[in-house]
Amino acid sequence: MQQISKITLHIGFDDTDSLEGSCTTFIATELINRLHKRVEFLDYPRLIRNNPNIPWKTRGNGAIALTLSVHEDFVENVISTSINTIEELHQNNPDTNPGIVILKGKIPKEIHNFASRALTEVISISKAKEYAERYCYKHHFIGNGRGIIGGLAAVGNELNPEEEDFTYEILTYRTSDYIGKKRSLNDESVRRMDEQLSPLVFNNIDEESRKVLINPAGLDPVLYGIRGENPEILLQAKELVQIEEPLDSYCIFRSNQGTDQHFKYSKPIIRNFSVFKGEVKVIEKPETFVGGHVFFKGLILEKNQMIDVAAFEPSKKFRNVIRDLLPGDKLVAYGGIRYKTEIQNFALQLEKSDIHFLSEHFKEESPFCPKCEKRMTSDGFNKGYKCKKCSYKDRTLQKTKIPIQRKITLGTYIPPEQAQRHLVKPFRRYNVQRKKSFEIIENWWKKSSNN
Ligand code: ATP
Repeated sequence: MQQISKITLHIGFDDTDSLEGSCTTFIATELINRLHKRVEFLDYPRLIRNNPNIPWKTRGNGAIALTLSVHEDFVENVISTSINTIEELHQNNPDTNPGIVILKGKIPKEIHNFASRALTEVISISKAKEYAERYCYKHHFIGNGRGIIGGLAAVGNELNPEEEDFTYEILTYRTSDYIGKKRSLNDESVRRMDEQLSPLVFNNIDEESRKVLINPAGLDPVLYGIRGENPEILLQAKELVQIEEPLDSYCIFRSNQGTDQHFKYSKPIIRNFSVFKGEVKVIEKPETFVGGHVFFKGLILEKNQMIDVAAFEPSKKFRNVIRDLLPGDKLVAYGGIRYKTEIQNFALQLEKSDIHFLSEHFKEESPFCPKCEKRMTSDGFNKGYKCKKCSYKDRTLQKTKIPIQRKITLGTYIPPEQAQRHLVKPFRRYNVQRKKSFEIIENWWKKSSNN
């Protein structure tokens, strides 16, 4: 009897869209529709967010990986379908540089390491192409091929439940005749869905402004996306959201969104566009500048190196906490490093801070009169104090030191939902138990025209 031989294929791709249209997740959904009769899906498509500080991203620096089991006779056909789908559906635009990588079998540790670096550093196109040559069964690119970086990073970030936290997102897509038109989403139904399913869904609403956050703007084919802890809850959430336009398709992705995964691999190093995590001591009192941005000078304790730390205007209430820091306070600071021409220096743009030490500060006040208990006044330089009410004088009395009541308390602070980066773990997830495994449910994707 002939043995049926199945091959595990990993397909990663990125940089297929622009602000003028398309979305890498939409292309993934189209590809799933084209492949599903010939493959078995070993994982949900993974939506991997990489280093959020790279300047050439379109939106949230997301890349896609598919993990498939394929009969050996179909392998070449699956690969050519994947490459042709990217060729056909990518946005033809000088700033769009698609890349697709295909690996067979077990992912090499070098690709795992590449993926960890892609979360926190800037990787060159030439390095990615070198890795693609060495470790991929096939790779293909258009333009300068920058998408190879994200493609490799998505394949290498396997979100193994034993090692990594992960979440899910259901993305729904518009039919082509609706793309570009106003989105018909009932905001109240989104708020109700969020209340009903919290804490198993997150980042649907901005708690501060009550704004609905699930729908993108513009020419994006996504109608809305809902993030959550398991696929079943997302199918339920989709039923609760009321819309007034037909859906082309939907798909559930497994993702590192909302997990702080980039902070797990970051270091206290000042390098342009990198992710930073380090212990910082406040050196100067924070100041607010034009535009509402708050800056303070801090010392990176592990490196004995100064850094300008910033909470920018969009981080809203988070700035109030940063404004109330005082010299001597200590925090673990998390964020992105950017060279700022305004200050001609690198700045750390805060995404989160764990304030773990508040220094003591005092104000000095004139003493109270020991006889009549009224506040005394100075009797001149080095002459002590006198009481205006009872005329008592004492040359030995000194100013009393009163501890300043600090406005902030120790704890973790992050910007409000609307200013949070995709990777940042929202408070709602802090008490949710980490998942130990995942199972692929029925109806995890659907294309309406298949019915
Ligand atoms: P969308 O979220 O709409 O899919 P995007 O924000 O992901 O878009 P892309 O158009 O995919 O943006 O552009 C991001 C580009 O940056 C891709 O080419 C990707 O390969 C590359 N990239 C991702 N991570 C890194 C990194 N760490 N260093 C250098 N380049 C990176």
